[in-house]
Amino acid sequence: MIIAERKPLPEVLEMLEGAKDVLVLGCRACTAICLAGGEREAVEMREALSLHSELKGKGWSVSALTVERACEREFLSPIEGHTGTVVSMACGVGAQVVQGLFPSLRVVPGVNTSNMGAPEGMGVFVERCAGCGDCIIHLTAGICPLARCAKGLLNGPCGGSKGGRCEVSPETPCAWEQIVRGLEAQGRTDLLEAIIPPRDWRPSRSGGPRRIVNAEAAPGPAQREWRGED
Ligand code: SF4
Ligand code: SF4
Repeated sequence: MIIAERKPLPEVLEMLEGAKDVLVLGCRACTAICLAGGEREAVEMREALSLHSELKGKGWSVSALTVERACEREFLSPIEGHTGTVVSMACGVGAQVVQGLFPSLRVVPGVNTSNMGAPEGMGVFVERCAGCGDCIIHLTAGICPLARCAKGLLNGPCGGSKGGRCEVSPETPCAWEQIVRGLEAQGRTDLLEAIIPPRDWRPSRSGGPRRIVNAEAAPGPAQREWRGED
């Protein structure tokens, strides 16, 4: 899922300078799960903004609304008719879909979108995928060296880990130690001898915004497009 965290309130207040009608838009998908922008957080934001408006005499009319998924236009009809400013508690994708659908609204981000990750414990979320567009975790015991190794190393550890922790951040397990242990558990340590060649970064962000066409859901031939190729 997409991981985000709430923006500090002073930042949101700064973005709302000059606003009148403010709609706080929560999302029940990823940002709800990572406790950044679901219904509860949208209501909290509404309360905080209302209080600020009252104390500072801003005269804002603040409401809150939470949709199933802000990244899908089908769920956004409840916003129709709203004028003014939207504080998006959805990820950056959802915020942009809302802005694209309602160009006259002023959409400001209420969260900072961070990464694609997973819950590790109560309130703890860790990055797991860097969206490279060409997955190779079958070679690395199901552990992504791009997202989980601080240096993104593809062919073994840097040699700096201590006690199984990454030299860049002692809080983080060394991904390559985990890969080696994983391959040992699978009886596939022969893979450690193989060289993973330099990546073709075209399917990654390096090729510009990506577009995936799923033939089962869309007309036309199944194709994956990136810049320079049809
Ligand atoms: S190899 Fe690429 S697609 Fe696979 S988990 Fe890592 S970043 Fe994500
Ligand atoms: S210590 Fe491990 S995870 Fe950290 S940069 Fe080196 S190889 Fe990567």
